[in-house]
Amino acid sequence: MNTQKTVLVTGASRGIGYAIAKKFAQNGFNVAINYNVNRTAAESLERELASLQCRVMTVKADVSSQEQVLYMIESVNSHLGNIDILVNNAGIAGQSLFTDITTEEWDRMFDINVKGMFHCCKAVLPQMIRNKWGKIVNISSIWGLTGASCEVHYSASKAAIIGLTRALAKEVGPSNIQVNCVAPGVIDTDMNSELDDQTLDELKEQTPLGIIGTGNDIAETVYFLTSDNAKFITGQVISPNGGFLI
Ligand code: NAP
Repeated sequence: MNTQKTVLVTGASRGIGYAIAKKFAQNGFNVAINYNVNRTAAESLERELASLQCRVMTVKADVSSQEQVLYMIESVNSHLGNIDILVNNAGIAGQSLFTDITTEEWDRMFDINVKGMFHCCKAVLPQMIRNKWGKIVNISSIWGLTGASCEVHYSASKAAIIGLTRALAKEVGPSNIQVNCVAPGVIDTDMNSELDDQTLDELKEQTPLGIIGTGNDIAETVYFLTSDNAKFITGQVISPNGGFLI
């Protein structure tokens, strides 16, 4: 693969996105780090990646805003060139009884997790189609495959991402653009920081491999899906989850 290609990772200031951005930088890609509010963390990652001698930039955008996404894409295009690889990772979670979920909470979940992907895909696809080359990896979740109690809005949004991935893969495949989905199991990030030790132990026990995943586990899968080794794979969902869901 041409290692001068440019990758945009949304939600790269922390957690899984951070690990994905680092993986691409370590392999010589130009990397655009998107964040929403956590500028300090994003800039710290930018400094870390710059020391790897790759071209790197930080760009703020709330992916739920089409206007901000368009500004982000223009900004990446002018600093790093066309976006060849888009990793739609930005997302939020939330736990609530279904009957307690407000319309506002439901809309916010879908605006960030699903509409954010719609905005980012829509903004980068014209350049990918023009180049007849592109890779898009969307981050879903095991809960999008199987559903989680007290996370109906999160689960529904993550299931929508799988539908989006499969349909878009069919539509843009003829333009040599691959669209795949990664559906992680439980990963050690801020998103799970509210889980107490007992819950984490229970989750480990329910996982055949007996461990909680790391951002690197997901980064490796994302990187594989964008590599030449995966050139025959599109419209698929790969779930690194330690065997939690088989
Ligand atoms: P995290 O540690 O909470 O990090 C979330 C990232 O998304 C941050 O970089 C955050 O930016 C960014 N973000 C949030 N809202 C955004 C918005 N409106 N616009 C742009 N960026 C936004 O989460 P994570 O665990 O790394 O999760 C990353 C992805 O993996 C999510 O899509 C999540 O649903 C999925 N996932 C996670 C797990 C898990 O167990 N952790 C399992 C399955 C799937 P700021 O720092 O600026 O807030």
